[in-house]
Amino acid sequence: MKKTVAVIGAGAAGLIAAGVLAERGKDVKLIEKNAVLGKKIRITGKGRCNITNIDDIENILKNIPTNPKFLYSALYSFTNMDLIHLLNSMGLKTKVERGGRVFPESDNAKDVVDALKKYALKANVEVICAFAEHLLFSDGKITGVSTSAGKIYADSVIVATGGKSYPLTGSTGDGYRLAEEVGHTIIEPKPSLVPIVTEERWVSDLMGLSLKNVELTVYNKKNKRVFSDFGEMLFTHFGISGPIVLSASAHLKDIHKEEYRVCIDLKPALDIQQLDRRIQRDFEKYTRKHLINAMDDLLPKALIPVIVELSGISPHKEVNQITREERMRLVELFKSLTLRVKDFRPIEEAIVTSGGIKVGEINPSTMESKLLAGLYFAGEVIDVDAYTGGYNLQIAFSTGYLAGKNA
Ligand SMILES: Cc1cc2nc3c(=O)[nH]c(=O)nc-3n(C[C@H](O)[C@H](O)[C@H](O)COP(=O)(O)OP(=O)(O)OC[C@H]3O[C@@H](n4cnc5c(N)ncnc54)[C@H](O)[C@@H]3O)c2cc1C
Repeated sequence: MKKTVAVIGAGAAGLIAAGVLAERGKDVKLIEKNAVLGKKIRITGKGRCNITNIDDIENILKNIPTNPKFLYSALYSFTNMDLIHLLNSMGLKTKVERGGRVFPESDNAKDVVDALKKYALKANVEVICAFAEHLLFSDGKITGVSTSAGKIYADSVIVATGGKSYPLTGSTGDGYRLAEEVGHTIIEPKPSLVPIVTEERWVSDLMGLSLKNVELTVYNKKNKRVFSDFGEMLFTHFGISGPIVLSASAHLKDIHKEEYRVCIDLKPALDIQQLDRRIQRDFEKYTRKHLINAMDDLLPKALIPVIVELSGISPHKEVNQITREERMRLVELFKSLTLRVKDFRPIEEAIVTSGGIKVGEINPSTMESKLLAGLYFAGEVIDVDAYTGGYNLQIAFSTGYLAGKNA
């Protein structure tokens, strides 16, 4: 008899799972509460969708800080190259950028959704626009899903409901409740790849200022370096955001206990002596100017009053009067503008959710629940998460594929 599989969630994981199931000849009920499919994918990579990364699987695993071992089978069963081939065969052209990041050639995330829909929406896949309320089961086996559109009976069910981040895309953490109701353990969902709130309030004066080519280093309470990277960051009304800040956040654990400090090197290409000589040259050039008016060649305009204030030097001191010791204070600020980490922004503003369904309760070779026969999980709903670089979507695609192969 033809088997029916219900897939809850038409995100990255659910769409791949539905396509694989359809290829295997299953009747698929794809349950999605949004009117559109793949809503989150459309906003990924700033609307360009960093689909995956072409690095080898061992290196992909190194970019997954939470439960990489659990993903071994999934990532080898459906690799980054398998994904690229599949999308290419659906007519999506891809390109590789800095750091091995793969994007659609069109730079349009919607094209990725279209390719996935083309793969998923075969004749034996029925899309049901409904809210999945509860899992149905009897005698230790799944029997279906109750939804806002009525009960859907199925031989297997795949929960691919995503995490709790960016809830307007539909990822509102429903999968945690569905899994918990049938006895699964949920590791507390927390934000990852998330903007940072700082103790310093002066950041709000710099709101909207974006710094390119800076080096950001984070130290913990014991002064141990926990993260360092070059790139782009942004000041906001609450603290800092932007690519290197989001990456840094994934490395910060026990954020309240560790008293992390973020040090921004505004001039990473210059060492202390070179920078000092550079400042001296500018001070000679603008010798009669007040300090506040003498740094336009060195810093973005908005940053000058902040640096001057932090230096403790009078903004109206003529630069020819500035002592060596005062100049060294400026050098220090340029090389290590320091902010104390107060908190993360809420999970709703995080790129991914860390935490989720405990991996020890899922079979890593099939994605089947160890607690309830016929129940499978895929994607961000599981307690796995990765750094930026296309790894999070690859996790969703690989686990979605494996669940689709086995359900
Ligand atoms: C702004 C942003 C940018 C990102 N950029 C990238 C990037 O460039 N590269 C990358 O690798 N990762 C990126 N990510 C992360 C990546 O998007 C996610 O990790 C990935 O989409 C997770 O896929 P998923 O299928 O598990 O879940 P989701 O994509 O969240 O899909 C879950 C689906 O389930 C549906 N659903 C939930 N509950 C129910 C219910 N009760 N009933 C019915 N349907 C339900 C939801 O509506 C949703 O459509 C980004 C995330 C964000 C927020």
